[in-house]
Amino acid sequence: MRESSNTMHSTLPTVGFIGLGNMGSGMTRNLQAAGYPLVVNDIRQEAATELLAHGAIWANTPAEVAASSDLVITMLPTPRHVDVVVNGPDGLLVGMADGGTWIDMSTSVPEVAEGVRARHAARNLHILDAPVSGMSVGAFSGMLQIFIGGEAEDVVRLRPVFEAMGDPERILHVGPAGTGYAVKLMINQLWFSHLVATAEVLAVGVRAGVNLEVLRASIVASPANSNFVQNDVLAILDYGDYDEGFAIALACKDLGLSMDLARSVGVPTELSAVVEQVFRRAKAQYGDLAGEMSPVKLYEDLIGTPLRREPQLEVVV
Ligand code: NAD
Repeated sequence: MRESSNTMHSTLPTVGFIGLGNMGSGMTRNLQAAGYPLVVNDIRQEAATELLAHGAIWANTPAEVAASSDLVITMLPTPRHVDVVVNGPDGLLVGMADGGTWIDMSTSVPEVAEGVRARHAARNLHILDAPVSGMSVGAFSGMLQIFIGGEAEDVVRLRPVFEAMGDPERILHVGPAGTGYAVKLMINQLWFSHLVATAEVLAVGVRAGVNLEVLRASIVASPANSNFVQNDVLAILDYGDYDEGFAIALACKDLGLSMDLARSVGVPTELSAVVEQVFRRAKAQYGDLAGEMSPVKLYEDLIGTPLRREPQLEVVV
């Protein structure tokens, strides 16, 4: 049973947290367990029920969150949501004191933060981007990987807060403001590319008559091995789990942002463009809430059989 952090007379800073979805719910749980007093907000108030039962305080607006916290974290779906929460009529900036701290942990792009810096330069705000990897499972276990873009002094000052949510070994200061977003988008782009490439080769191999696990184990033992083939695809092969903890609509959002980033820096990304289209096809086919690994299902549908390995088959290659 977690302690009620807001009644513990904590000397830790009060953390404002906006966005209590698949990721934010686990992250706030861990902040609370580490003793941070929390002030929370979401457009779905029911998302806060458990946090409030353990001592968190509800705020009706992002402005109220900012006014009652020492620092504010946002964990929201898209840059559009971040913009509303930060710049809206009841947004963060209305309630935040001069010199305040805002950490955006959403997978997003730097434009909103850059606009804030440009329009509010005199307020001396501390703004960091700190998106994460590790899925909702990592958010709940407090083992997220965190990529931080921002000033070194801020990263040092805020490290304990990050450590309450992430794996201390994998909390990385990756450069100045904006670089955290870029690292996260590139990691997702590569992982999504691995996913589509893996689905293709497994579907072709199985159609060509190879046993699925023999094929997978052969790839694992070969120079073409990847973390996706070795580990992540097993959720599908063993359990038919396409990871509904991360909606395909958000995966498509990430791929779109990644393509925008590539365009903005003038690098053609032909492969990524194809991967994005495959993801969009899966979203159209299975709906916005389907799991991020649903593109594999497109290939299963194509070959007319789910990719599932036989439970007892142990393959030594
Ligand atoms: P989610 O949709 O489950 O949660 C988002 C939350 O934000 C919801 O509770 C929603 O009600 C709330 N929200 C939306 N607009 C709001 C507003 N105006 N004011 C207050 N609350 C608002 O999304 P998620 O899966 O938790 O993802 C959050 C971010 O983390 C996204 O940028 C996503 O790309 C990224 N991410 C997700 C995962 C994952 O596995 N789910 C992994 C890494 C990164």
